[in-house]
Amino acid sequence: MLASKGKLLRVYTQNIDGLEVLAELPPDKIVECHGHFRTAACIDCAKSADIDSVVQSITKEGKAPTCDKCKGYVKPDIVFFGEGLPNRFHKLLRPDLQQADLLIILGTSLQVAPVSMIPDLVNRNVCKRVLLNRELVGNLDILGKTNKQNKKLQQDIFHKGDCDDAIVTLSQLMGWDDELQELHTKTRVNLKMKQEQNNKKN
Ligand SMILES: [Zn+2]
Repeated sequence: MLASKGKLLRVYTQNIDGLEVLAELPPDKIVECHGHFRTAACIDCAKSADIDSVVQSITKEGKAPTCDKCKGYVKPDIVFFGEGLPNRFHKLLRPDLQQADLLIILGTSLQVAPVSMIPDLVNRNVCKRVLLNRELVGNLDILGKTNKQNKKLQQDIFHKGDCDDAIVTLSQLMGWDDELQELHTKTRVNLKMKQEQNNKKN
């Protein structure tokens, strides 16, 4: 909904399930920091492999898929521990950090670097930070510090609870709750139709 209102700069997600894509967020708005399962490639020669055959090999034949060029192992384009993040992450992060005037941090333990460092890298002079999470994480300043002139410095906001509930509360505060509900229903219907089409294909 933020994207459709022209208010979304980017979503940096650590999820690898591709839910943002399924939710029909425009691809240019998404950075899947730890990759996704929609495509696959050889770990030795990087040749891309057909994801349907990869899935078939793992789930139906019970064997690790191999590359048709070099016989190396093929894996979905997800980022394992110790592997580098996608180029898109490195390309977009710096300019996004300069532009962002609000950072919403949602549903994360904020433990896995470098994504966990994003909240520390925004321009604190212009960018408010809001944490919607079950627990307080990261180096957020939720109490606010007082400077020498006895003026409270910019403070971050922490809303404790489930993300879904927090988003509903936020949309109510914005007067967008009906619109959110409508979008939610529409996206679910579209998703169901896509799943049925896929089932027919298989
Ligand atoms: Zn290969």
